[in-house]
Amino acid sequence: MWMAQSKGRRVKRAIKHILLCLVFGLVIAWIVPSGLLEIPRRIGTGRILKSQMITSPNTKLVKILDYRWFGVYERQFTQLRKFNTADQRTRLEFWWTIHVLPEPKLPLDKAWEEIRSRYDENAFPVEKTQYSIVHVGWPMLSFRMDGAINIKGTLADGTYPKDVHGAVVTPVIDPAKYFKGMESSPLATHLWVPYHPIWSGLFVNTVFYALIIAMALSIKRAYRHARRMRKGNCPICSYNLEFVFVDGCPECGWRKD
Ligand SMILES: [Zn+2]
Repeated sequence: MWMAQSKGRRVKRAIKHILLCLVFGLVIAWIVPSGLLEIPRRIGTGRILKSQMITSPNTKLVKILDYRWFGVYERQFTQLRKFNTADQRTRLEFWWTIHVLPEPKLPLDKAWEEIRSRYDENAFPVEKTQYSIVHVGWPMLSFRMDGAINIKGTLADGTYPKDVHGAVVTPVIDPAKYFKGMESSPLATHLWVPYHPIWSGLFVNTVFYALIIAMALSIKRAYRHARRMRKGNCPICSYNLEFVFVDGCPECGWRKD
């Protein structure tokens, strides 16, 4: 009944197909950042791009570390009492340190004042706290979160007091407890699921993953069509055409218009 397969219906089906790909693209774009955060935190990799000091009127000296991993950009702020010339060593470097992302533009002193103001000063005294601003996502940075850790305080479970904005944090098993010699950051005891979107990045990533899904589906469809035609059937509905493809399909209307 090939008349039923009208143009309007085909357009509707195509739109439905595109929307479905976009929905799955969005889901993947949301899951990927958590995975990207997990890997470097668990195995303790990451490259320090820059280590620099700024002096601010209220807090004197602030050490800023810029980290980059594959799909992760992190900036850490720690107030120091005096200059510490010993630089933090560069940790293991893997291929995911490849620079694929534009660096977020954050004026350092403004970012410092802003991140401090976001956290309770009693729970997180500035001289005991390490603040970090994290951008994550691939191929574009698509989520932002920040956190404060009181690195001088210890909780009953051995972790540091912390507060996080823009991410759900759930405790998980720290691999360093089970694998000897494994380097572990205090943050590896938790799984971070960022949710504060960077809209432009999230949009690009959603489209990017949707295109990959659409491509995979079309390859699968082409494969199915070829298999049906090898059997002499219609590639669309599998109706038996006995290898007479030139006339099209009387069942679904393939090659009839
Ligand atoms: Zn057919």
